[in-house]
Amino acid sequence: MRNKNYNQETISEGIRAGDNKWLSRGITLIESQLESDKTKSSALIESLLPLSGNSIRIGITGVPGVGKSTFVEAFGSQLTSLGKKLAVLSIDPSSSISKGSILGDKTRMAQLSMDSRAFIRPSPAGNSWGGVATSTRESIILCEAAGHDVIIVETVGVGQSETLVKDMVDFFLLLMLPGSGDELQGIKRGIMEMADAIFINKSDGNMERAKRARKDFQNALHLFPPAASDWTVPVELGSSLEKEGVDQMWKICQEFKAQTTESGWFEQNRKLQQIKWFHQLISQRLEADFYTSASTKAKIKKAEDSIFTTQVSVRNAVDSLFTCQNQR
Ligand code: GDP
Repeated sequence: MRNKNYNQETISEGIRAGDNKWLSRGITLIESQLESDKTKSSALIESLLPLSGNSIRIGITGVPGVGKSTFVEAFGSQLTSLGKKLAVLSIDPSSSISKGSILGDKTRMAQLSMDSRAFIRPSPAGNSWGGVATSTRESIILCEAAGHDVIIVETVGVGQSETLVKDMVDFFLLLMLPGSGDELQGIKRGIMEMADAIFINKSDGNMERAKRARKDFQNALHLFPPAASDWTVPVELGSSLEKEGVDQMWKICQEFKAQTTESGWFEQNRKLQQIKWFHQLISQRLEADFYTSASTKAKIKKAEDSIFTTQVSVRNAVDSLFTCQNQR
């Protein structure tokens, strides 16, 4: 989408008024890679930051085909019928590579995309994981400032996207199938460890199998150390297609928020996420500055040649780069 030259004050006003059209333009601005848009983006985010934070941010993951978009449709429609405003953002690794999203297409959530209380935004076609994560985090701020009460960040169950999403949400929901829990269905154990709840979707056929799967997952969860939030991870059976168990998931999200707000974890976790993000941005900035400097480029090339011809160890080649830098 091309970003016309709207000034950030107009965009900010439109977002404050809760207008999704302006929200969309604001997100396009912050996703822009143009140098000339950077100052405007920063000003926009600064102006909206005081209005952000009043939502529950829910991450949803699971392997392709598990039923994420069907779940989000059912869950989201239930929320909008309760009068909530909902934003759905997606993180799709394929979109950064192909510059086109296989996931974010609005046709995946046909009903929600026509719902005036819902806002759906496909994954940004960013050029790096760091870039995609940053613009999604900033999109959350904009969505909250526009009055969205629930923010869903959806990701596919592959690659490093789960960690990125876990670090920007309050509650992380893992969708699984009613198969054997032993194999963990291609989901790494580390991802299970991140979950605040497991929803065994498609529990609308063989219920014995579904119940067995629940037992398997519960057993696997017992092996993990207790979560820092002190929250006990529930394993629920449900069917997004039949809209069963979906209302229960919303109750669980609310219980989580109430319990962790009371214990102080909810706010503390958000602050810790901010600090982690701050350090990630520093690393990204340092790396970008380092690699784009013309003098470093020449030195890197020279060091690579020396490594290639085994004249120097990798460790010494790196040392030589930093020694040169410090002596400048
Ligand atoms: P995603 O790739 O994880 O987003 O999965 P989709 O939501 O696109 O669902 C994949 C397929 O599973 C579609 O054909 C859905 O109709 C089907 N599906 C999703 N949820 C359920 C469910 O609860 N029960 C059954 N039987 N099928 C479902």
